[in-house]
Amino acid sequence: AKRSGKNSFRFYAREMNAQAAEMLRLDNSMPQGLVNGDFYLHYQPQLNLEDNSVVAVEALLRWRHPELGMIPPDRFIPLAEESGFIIKLGEWVLRTACAQCAAWQQDGPAPLRIAVNVSGCQFNEPDFVDMVSTALSSSGLSPEYLELELTESLLISNEQQALQKLQLLKSMGIYLAIDDFGTGYSSLAYLKHFPLDRLKIDKSFINDILTDPDDAAITEAIIAMGHSLKLKVIAEGVETREQLLFLEDRGCDEMQGYYLSKPLSEHDLKVFITARAAD
Ligand code: C2E
Ligand code: CA
Ligand code: CA
Ligand code: CA
Repeated sequence: AKRSGKNSFRFYAREMNAQAAEMLRLDNSMPQGLVNGDFYLHYQPQLNLEDNSVVAVEALLRWRHPELGMIPPDRFIPLAEESGFIIKLGEWVLRTACAQCAAWQQDGPAPLRIAVNVSGCQFNEPDFVDMVSTALSSSGLSPEYLELELTESLLISNEQQALQKLQLLKSMGIYLAIDDFGTGYSSLAYLKHFPLDRLKIDKSFINDILTDPDDAAITEAIIAMGHSLKLKVIAEGVETREQLLFLEDRGCDEMQGYYLSKPLSEHDLKVFITARAAD
């Protein structure tokens, strides 16, 4: 103990209460925030390493709280998952992403596919597939322009049900990716049953690929395994040219990260795509 026991306990309890109160406050203000338009999406471009083209973006949710300012998704998504508000919020994300992507098909500088993150509790809703189908039809977006990013833990929590849903989504023509690949503790057996298109190597591996031989080996193994299963492999969190060259050299298909671009507003994305097209 660094301080006298009683005082440090009081200090700790006060901290805990403040933290709990803030979490409650955030959680309670999400529904109103959605009504007020405090949530919006940013779009991070993904680069095809074979021909250097940008053909897709990932939609990333942002929340500007009226009093507290920007709240990072790593803080509010877990709260929304706990309270169940993620169901509504996730539906809003999907509808907004599909509508935006459909608008790009009409007047954007180039057609882009959009990748949308899906929470486990959202995916487990009985009407998840219907919800996706409605988001597509009401936006007019063709299914082959939508990709869903799912996590390993989501897929293995109820394998039979997940398999059925994935087959339905796949038969609609939607792309399916495993997000944060390599961080789950699952067996890899599920990979051969599920109709997947892409593995996304988690940025925790990419971060140290040049300095940590273990991370380099894991990254190489994921690329090799992905390819032998006929999956595309994308690396996230690429921040430097050296990391990019490493991945390119190992045959990684695509990359996403600050080295190419941070997540952008709709307007800035348009500027980014237009500038690349002019090169
Ligand atoms: P994620 O799906 O793994 O998304 C990648 C995160 O890495 C994003 O953080 C992105 O901004 C960040 N990133 C991109 N490039 C780089 C880079 O080069 N270096 C580093 N250090 N980071 C990079 P963000 O936007 O803060 O999102 C955090 C997490 O919140 C996401 O991780 C995802 O799990 C969750 N999330 C975001 N939007 C949604 C959503 O609409 N629905 C759900 N269910 N989850 C979401
Ligand atoms: Ca993601
Ligand atoms: Ca990740
Ligand atoms: Ca994630």
